[in-house]
Amino acid sequence: MTTGFSTGRALRPTTKVLPEHARGHNRSLVLQTLYRSGGQSRADLARETGLTRVTVSDLVAELMGEGLVIETGQREDARPGKPATLLDLDRGAFQIVGVDLSQADRFRGALLDLDGTVLDRAELPLGAATGDRALALVIELVASLVDRATAPLLGIGVGSPGIVDLAGVVLSAPNLGWADVPLQGALTDRFATPVVVANDANVAALAEHSFGGADSDMMLVKVGHGVGAGLLLGGVPLYGSTFAAGEIGHVVVGTDGGPECVCGKRGCLETWLAVPRLEKALAAASDDQSRRLVLEQAGQRLGIALAPIVGALNLAEVVLSGPTALLDGPLADAVVETLHTRTMAEFHGRLTLRMTTLGEDIVMRGAAAMVLTAQLGVS
Ligand SMILES: [Zn+2]
Repeated sequence: MTTGFSTGRALRPTTKVLPEHARGHNRSLVLQTLYRSGGQSRADLARETGLTRVTVSDLVAELMGEGLVIETGQREDARPGKPATLLDLDRGAFQIVGVDLSQADRFRGALLDLDGTVLDRAELPLGAATGDRALALVIELVASLVDRATAPLLGIGVGSPGIVDLAGVVLSAPNLGWADVPLQGALTDRFATPVVVANDANVAALAEHSFGGADSDMMLVKVGHGVGAGLLLGGVPLYGSTFAAGEIGHVVVGTDGGPECVCGKRGCLETWLAVPRLEKALAAASDDQSRRLVLEQAGQRLGIALAPIVGALNLAEVVLSGPTALLDGPLADAVVETLHTRTMAEFHGRLTLRMTTLGEDIVMRGAAAMVLTAQLGVS
């Protein structure tokens, strides 16, 4: 079994590959086809994947043996002859633990089925815990969910704040006091189950791709205690040269200075947009008009930061995740307006900007999507 991502691979396999990689790839093709459109016969699968009937039958037998695929009945068919037997992924056969470490005051976790539906939840207050104490809380939270699982576990997925490498080592998460914490390794040792750990905004982008209907060329901007982003290009997650792709929170926006940031610079995107900063500015505003101005200015700064990214990558979609009351409205309108005035209309005019539909569960569901990709090759 594999853990973590291989870089440069599209999330959804669509074509045949070289013979030496064929079996695993073909297996993922069949699983992916059933995952996205269940209720197909073996003949349908052969047609859909370009594999032979024999190969499909072999793979289906193997997958049924593992409990991943089930026969769901016979197709209602007017044509003469034996009706086709329909197949589907058994979406309740396994469960996934998804964990969100990105909230300022608590760790949240859930048990999910293979469709990413939340079956059960747990959370632990973080208090002032950092370092080893914070790590102990993660283990406690995961243990409570593992104990409550009612089907075999497919794996554990974790979205962590900070910079996370492809081996699931949290290189730096200042709010949790973590530096070079091998979180994925620690959880694998403790629970003897496949574990994947990644940055929370990257995980949220995966959730949008798997469960939110997002485009394959998209950026998810996650606004919370800080500001981060996850990027998908051609359906491939981008991690960057030091795993910090999407870390736009401490990029200075504009050349006019701005408020001082915790990092020592002035005018970082976070100083306009992070939730605590926004709430403080809104509390200090005297009337509706000045509150509106605070939100518009935050949206303009985000638009200024996004315009060159949208321009360079020709993105189709930007998705915002965070408190709807703050982001949806004047702030989002100002982002759109700013992007329009700063990008080329003929190429970028069709870009859409919207709120995520996944709400507060986005990181936990993305963590489940990550396990599905790593273990089954589906998304
Ligand atoms: Zn900063």
